[in-house]
Amino acid sequence: MTNDKPRLLDLNPAELEALMAALGEPRFRARQVWDWLYRQLATDFDAMTSLPKSLRAQLAESAVIDMVEPVAETWSADRMAQKFLFRLRDGQLVESVLMHYEDEAAAVADADEGVTRGAGRHTVCISSQVGCAMGCVFCATGQMGLLRNLTPGEIVAQVLYAERILRRDGARVTNVVYMGMGEPLANFNAVWRSVETLHDPHGFNLGARRITLSTVGLVPGMRRLAEQDLPINLALSIHGATDEVRDTIVPINTRYALADIIAAARDYIAKTGRRLTVEWVLIQDVNDTPQQAERLADLLRGMLVHVNLIPLNPTAGYDGKTPTPARSLQFRDTLAARGIPTTLRMRRGIDVQAGCGQLRTQIVGGRPTSINPTLIATTDHRPPTTG
Ligand code: SAH
Ligand code: SF4
Repeated sequence: MTNDKPRLLDLNPAELEALMAALGEPRFRARQVWDWLYRQLATDFDAMTSLPKSLRAQLAESAVIDMVEPVAETWSADRMAQKFLFRLRDGQLVESVLMHYEDEAAAVADADEGVTRGAGRHTVCISSQVGCAMGCVFCATGQMGLLRNLTPGEIVAQVLYAERILRRDGARVTNVVYMGMGEPLANFNAVWRSVETLHDPHGFNLGARRITLSTVGLVPGMRRLAEQDLPINLALSIHGATDEVRDTIVPINTRYALADIIAAARDYIAKTGRRLTVEWVLIQDVNDTPQQAERLADLLRGMLVHVNLIPLNPTAGYDGKTPTPARSLQFRDTLAARGIPTTLRMRRGIDVQAGCGQLRTQIVGGRPTSINPTLIATTDHRPPTTG
């Protein structure tokens, strides 16, 4: 029975109106509920005090607010990132990372999209699937395979959770990146609906330029994204500047060749005017050579891009090595010398977004199973004090 109830976070405004109409309620009630969900962050119907009590009771009977349930939380060593592991209704686990940037200078230096609001930036990195079918060899999420897609509400709920934590300190989520578990363009409809929900000016009201979707390069999805009327930021995980190298670490490359991916990326930039972020996980002796850097510079010449170099974060299922800092710097300098704006992210472990998928693996291993109770989260969301 419960399973058949509409889950409110999955609905768009029109569907919410239809639901209210079915309950015999006027349109403005739908707008009120939308406001409670996405502006006031209500997690239950009782909190929706502008609704008549009878309606609240009726809603509690006939619908659910499908929040994610936190089961573990960790802080990064530098206290700049918090990771959450969430349990979904069917027991599946996904994770989000909330990254804090102290000041504007740090946020600008981070240079993902060069946009800040006020003094602090708070970026939440969210999951779009449980696992991933793309099988990138170095990725903890890829190593577990695809278990299922997330629903729009399960995606949005991760952001609402982060927002609730931040609001206690008077802060807000300023940026959302689809860089957690999963390949967002392989779950296009749900992901796009979640983008629209987060963007809605009458609700969560997050600007398109504050939203970034990261893809491994699914060309049809990239083209479809370009057709949407919200120009969100695109990040492209390339990791190899020749098909030969890319094939060995990103198996989906055998389906969509590099030249086609770059063409789709160029078209996305032309259509949206947005700067493309290129992600490159540096792996020793695999893709950290000067030749790869030169080829990458050739591929990106003339494009509005920013390259993020991420030294490999080791995972149990892959024996590739993290390059030495000197080697990583050399790669960066080779790109920079060819006029490609590049940032090398030297922060380690879960301090980088790239650690997504690893908290889950650390706690339950690569497969869905019960949680080790000793790792169940604290409810204290303040950072541990430096000691
Ligand atoms: N599927 C999408 C988004 C999720 S992965 C994509 O691939 O873009 C987000 C980023 O984390 C990608 O750039 C991915 O290559 C990177 N990543 C995955 N595993 C990593 C690891 N072990 N070390 C460093 N970066 C990693
Ligand atoms: Fe999937 Fe991205 Fe991991 Fe590749 S890097 S397996 S596309 S989540």
